[in-house]
Amino acid sequence: MSWKDIVGHESQIKYLIQAWKTNRLGQAYFFHGPDGIGKRTLAIEFGKALLCQSNINFEACGVCASCKLVEAENHPDLQMNSCPKDVHEFPRELMKEICEGFFLKASRGGAKVLVIDDCDLLNEESGNIFLKSLEEPPPHSIIFLIGTSLERQLETILSRCQKLAFHGLSQSEVAKVFAVKQIDGSFDLNKITDACGGSVSQAIMLTDPDFSHLEDSFLAEIIMPVPDPVKLVKMVMDFIEGAGKETSAQRSRARWLVHGTLSWLRGQILLKSNTGALISRPRFQLPAAVGVEKILAMLEACFQAEYQIQRRVQLSLTIQWWVDGLIWADSVTAFDFNVGTI
Ligand SMILES: [Zn+2]
Repeated sequence: MSWKDIVGHESQIKYLIQAWKTNRLGQAYFFHGPDGIGKRTLAIEFGKALLCQSNINFEACGVCASCKLVEAENHPDLQMNSCPKDVHEFPRELMKEICEGFFLKASRGGAKVLVIDDCDLLNEESGNIFLKSLEEPPPHSIIFLIGTSLERQLETILSRCQKLAFHGLSQSEVAKVFAVKQIDGSFDLNKITDACGGSVSQAIMLTDPDFSHLEDSFLAEIIMPVPDPVKLVKMVMDFIEGAGKETSAQRSRARWLVHGTLSWLRGQILLKSNTGALISRPRFQLPAAVGVEKILAMLEACFQAEYQIQRRVQLSLTIQWWVDGLIWADSVTAFDFNVGTI
């Protein structure tokens, strides 16, 4: 794999290559944007090209010992770190270890590359430990920090990085990744690229037939005149826990379902508006009595749930709140929301 195989993010790649070509590479970059769109892949590919022993035109050769080590995720001078899956914040001990490793002399005599994913989960303590490495990094080193949004970062960290924004892939780009990775099967690619929010990892997850089955059962209940919250919570929790014990896999399932519901609700709003006739009518429709205000309040419940999942709030609580929010969302909430602007 090299730069050329990365789908999307052309302007960010161009920007980095141009900085390298003109000897203006920064010491630290902060990549921010939605999960699962390739920020980490890009950081690693860039590191690989930097470390390559015979890079041609700023591309990793893919065959030298250094490239092979990066591909085997075993290069001593490319440190790739993320927050352990089952904790809510980046542990200080881990951050200490990361920083110590970063200051060791480059084993292969070239540059040192440090990639830290999940920066949303840095707290004051782990952030402060890292700050020293950021202020005075070792020579010939480059740091890539990765997070979902700038708002969630520590200002002290951000102020020392060059920030690079990333966006979700377009539907055709997601389809292209599927073609490159040779992912095929009996799924509806259009539906998947539409529901994945520009995230390849979400899209891949959606190819599992269990997912569309669950979504159908969930929406069939939500559109009932009086949906059953107990049934809904159980349905969702069974599905989430079906991912196994690992909480990050469970969170992915929860995120997917919430995101799918968001897209569906947007479709419901279009249906209520005059443009409804222009789009294909979704299979599941809310009763006619449900107004736009209620749908907006339901959307708000989904945004809240997405935020809680991102913050790693206990999933059973998040789902309970979400389902209650969807069912009990009513015009009062929407009215309260707008009260300041009336
Ligand atoms: Zn190489």
